[in-house]
Amino acid sequence: QPSDHELDTPFYTSCQEPATTSHQPREKAALVMLVRNSELLKALKTVQSIEKHFNQWFHYPVVFLNDEPFSQEFVSVMNASVSGEARFEHLVSRKEWGYPEWMDVSDVKDAKEAIKQQGEDGILYAGMETYHHMCRFYSGKFYTLPALRDYKWYWRIEPDVDFYCSITYDPFVEMAKHDKVYGFTIALSEEPRTCPSLFRKVADYKEQHNIPTTELWKATVSPSWVPWPLRSFVMPWFFPSHCDRSGDGWSLCHYWSNFEIANLDFFRGREYQRLFEYLDKTGGFYYERWGDAAIHSLAVQMLLPSHKVHHFEDFGYRHDWFYQCPANTPNGQLLESESLPVGSYYPEREGGIGCRCECDGSRTRNYPAYCTNKLKQPNTARRIGTLELIRSW
Ligand code: GDP
Ligand code: MN
Repeated sequence: QPSDHELDTPFYTSCQEPATTSHQPREKAALVMLVRNSELLKALKTVQSIEKHFNQWFHYPVVFLNDEPFSQEFVSVMNASVSGEARFEHLVSRKEWGYPEWMDVSDVKDAKEAIKQQGEDGILYAGMETYHHMCRFYSGKFYTLPALRDYKWYWRIEPDVDFYCSITYDPFVEMAKHDKVYGFTIALSEEPRTCPSLFRKVADYKEQHNIPTTELWKATVSPSWVPWPLRSFVMPWFFPSHCDRSGDGWSLCHYWSNFEIANLDFFRGREYQRLFEYLDKTGGFYYERWGDAAIHSLAVQMLLPSHKVHHFEDFGYRHDWFYQCPANTPNGQLLESESLPVGSYYPEREGGIGCRCECDGSRTRNYPAYCTNKLKQPNTARRIGTLELIRSW
């Protein structure tokens, strides 16, 4: 039975009064968005959504990052839309954006060949060289940017995402207060063809450095249902690239990194950066299409105790066609006779997890439930039955 301080519950449920919390001290924190000039309208949509639901009360700075200089139009539109300071950073150093320094001309040629091949094989986004640069950037170099040096916390945002509920407390302050390092909303399963050798590389690293097995690591390596003699002998023998030496493999579940609220000190610290450098040296960001979400997740699961990870289940959030929608009502339950159209908000029905959520929390509280449950604190994960699992899809 976990003690109370180990339980990962929402910091607050339902609505707070941001007018009072806004007088409280701020953390050294920024909202951060990597974005192209061509994505101005989508980026604006995100900024408007997060201003409306959060930053109009808290006025945190927004740092925009780009591998090209920002257009005048981008700068003036964002200056007019962000209620805190808007900052614009052009990543000029070749170390931050592009192929790693250890790659020589012929390595880069190999990498370009590999990228072309991945594109022809139809692996999602893998035929785009810039996508590989983006994933490598967000996996490592992002954290050591001089532009982020003065911040302790970042909240990652992306063009074309929606926030559905009001966030009426300061998540940075709560993360600090509760000793959290990493916060997520949606958890998904990774496309295996983007990372055939990733888990094995990380598992090797874990062994080389004698890193003890955490609860989170145990929760994401999968086949506990495979009996022990088979796990440690048969599995590595038949699936050598997908297992560690004890026969455990990665469930492919990962935190979706387009939303993150996290402590920069962890990611720019020696332990994480050493792991990143090791992975970068293998070339897997180019010879395969390792995503930053998978890298962050495996690192968090390997290096952090479970009580330092927080699931923001009270945030309504959408990226692409996946979303999380907390219920405004207690337990997400509606009366049998009710049906609540998407977008509707009934003030008299407060008392649920979310605050003024403009989405239908009775239908989807999280998607998909399998990975979310696996990656929530192992000691607090709801044990869900098969029927519930099927229904939640
Ligand atoms: P997805 O979320 O995996 O579909 O990938 P996105 O296309 O949304 O890219 C993730 C983030 O990186 C978004 O914030 C993009 O704006 C940004 N991004 C991706 N590629 C580039 C690039 O080449 N240049 C810049 N400046 N931003 C990029
Ligand atoms: Mn995206």
